[in-house]
Amino acid sequence: MAERMLQFVRLSQQTPEKREPTIRREDFDEIYARFDPARASEQASRCSQCGVPFCSVHCPLQQNIPDWLKLTAEGRLEEAYEVNAATNTFPEICGRVCPQDRLCEGNCVIEKGFESVTIGAVERYINDTAWEKGWVKPPTPVRELEHSVAIIGAGPGGLAAAEKLRTQGWQVHVYDRYDRAGGLMIYGIPNFKLEKDVITRRTAQFEEGGIHFHLNSEIGRDVTLEELRARHDAVLIATGVYKARDIAVPGAHLDGVVPAMSFLTASNRKGLGDDVPEFDSGALDAAGKRVVVIGGGDTAMDCLRTSIRQGAASVTCLYRRDKANMPGSMREVHNAEEEGVRFAWLSAPDAFEGDTRVTGVRVTKMHLGLPDATGRQQVEPIPGSEFTEPADLVIKALGFDPEDLPRMFDEPGLGVSRWGTLTVDRRNMMTSLPGVFAAGDIVRGASLVVWAIRDGRDAADRIADYVKARDAVPQAAE
Ligand code: FAD
Ligand code: SF4
Ligand code: SF4
Repeated sequence: MAERMLQFVRLSQQTPEKREPTIRREDFDEIYARFDPARASEQASRCSQCGVPFCSVHCPLQQNIPDWLKLTAEGRLEEAYEVNAATNTFPEICGRVCPQDRLCEGNCVIEKGFESVTIGAVERYINDTAWEKGWVKPPTPVRELEHSVAIIGAGPGGLAAAEKLRTQGWQVHVYDRYDRAGGLMIYGIPNFKLEKDVITRRTAQFEEGGIHFHLNSEIGRDVTLEELRARHDAVLIATGVYKARDIAVPGAHLDGVVPAMSFLTASNRKGLGDDVPEFDSGALDAAGKRVVVIGGGDTAMDCLRTSIRQGAASVTCLYRRDKANMPGSMREVHNAEEEGVRFAWLSAPDAFEGDTRVTGVRVTKMHLGLPDATGRQQVEPIPGSEFTEPADLVIKALGFDPEDLPRMFDEPGLGVSRWGTLTVDRRNMMTSLPGVFAAGDIVRGASLVVWAIRDGRDAADRIADYVKARDAVPQAAE
């Protein structure tokens, strides 16, 4: 092992090639190329095979990273794929969208003095190769079970649970109010981060493996939670968080002031070839417009970079804190800067100007003051600093809260936290309703794809335990 691995002392870090900003601004294709086989093997060989791998500790799926890196370095790719796929339902997606700088790679021990192993890019390489070679198979149960589960939400959380239970032989029914499976992976995250066929080839395989999808089916409107509970042995709620945080300033009703998800969904739908009247009318198309995006998270970065690709005349990000305090991934901020986005740091909107259509955003400059009780510096307005930022399209990307599920599901007994997320018993992931489990953003609040996968996989195990225990009780009593 030793001579093949530990190559970080000899080989420098190389990431897959990134397309030139001037070229990638012109289309919605992914911006990173794939490693070629020699480069992937070389980069994997930089790993020092730590006894206690901090990369794995900080991966939400606690994947066996050193093992699949070693197998890749040795050219044993099919085995690398098997080890990787054993712990991750969507490794090819995580390789693309995980903020690796904050997770696995950010905690790689050879960070210090050298540069971390490019774990995400290698994970993507292994799994893209696996798809090409036909190693990725639909979930195939060894025997069919009578147990059935209803999964509400076809995002990464719901799908990870669906795949695991189906592989065990469960009858799995996934309900989603959208017309396509994938959740935010299909309608939130733009193509230039995650091309859509990467998701659709997975969901097609899930269908082939016997997972039943009930699309255009909203629980609380088309079907009730009560019906699902009566029909199935267990229910998993994985509905994500969709209530957009708003900003209560004058002019918020003006035409041309739009929520981020409407903008991103229209763009993603257009890319998928759908008819999108709100896009075709120009209402949700940034072409030729002066675009202002409000917010500093990853959703804001996606809106900014989508606007660039749609051919906006100018694209400006207004964020009330400074760059160092942005919640978004630095990698994405950097990509946005390269593509021509202008960042107006320490800038807070006071009002949207215009008669019926927005023409500008009234902005006050801020400065960072004393830290509050949480240690975070307060933002304070600078008197007399107001100015107007011209705008034809304003996109609000201020984050998401959970919808009111107890009301939507007509289940007042469904317990929620003070933030509206579902409360679950941490030991078994069950909500306050027996046999009803929850996973992903609806429990954590807006989070990451990889955490939803982790929760979905865990929930599948807890659901199986629950039904096993339930079935065992009458037998034990006899
Ligand atoms: P979701 O993916 O939200 O899926 C929930 C599903 O439930 C949806 O399909 C919805 O239609 C369905 N649903 C909701 N209510 C009902 C109902 N009543 N009946 C039936 N169906 C219902 N994470 C990353 O790791 N990397 C990124 O780069 C990244 N970029 C992002 C960009 C944007 C713009 C956004 C908004 C999020 C991003 N995220 C990213 C976060 C990530 O997408 C989410 O954390 C993840 O998708 C959550 O998974 P989930 O399964 O809990 O919910
Ligand atoms: Fe890193 Fe995400 Fe892969 Fe874990 S799943 S190894 S955090 S890229
Ligand atoms: Fe390899 Fe870095 Fe993980 Fe250590 S922390 S096992 S060097 S990838």
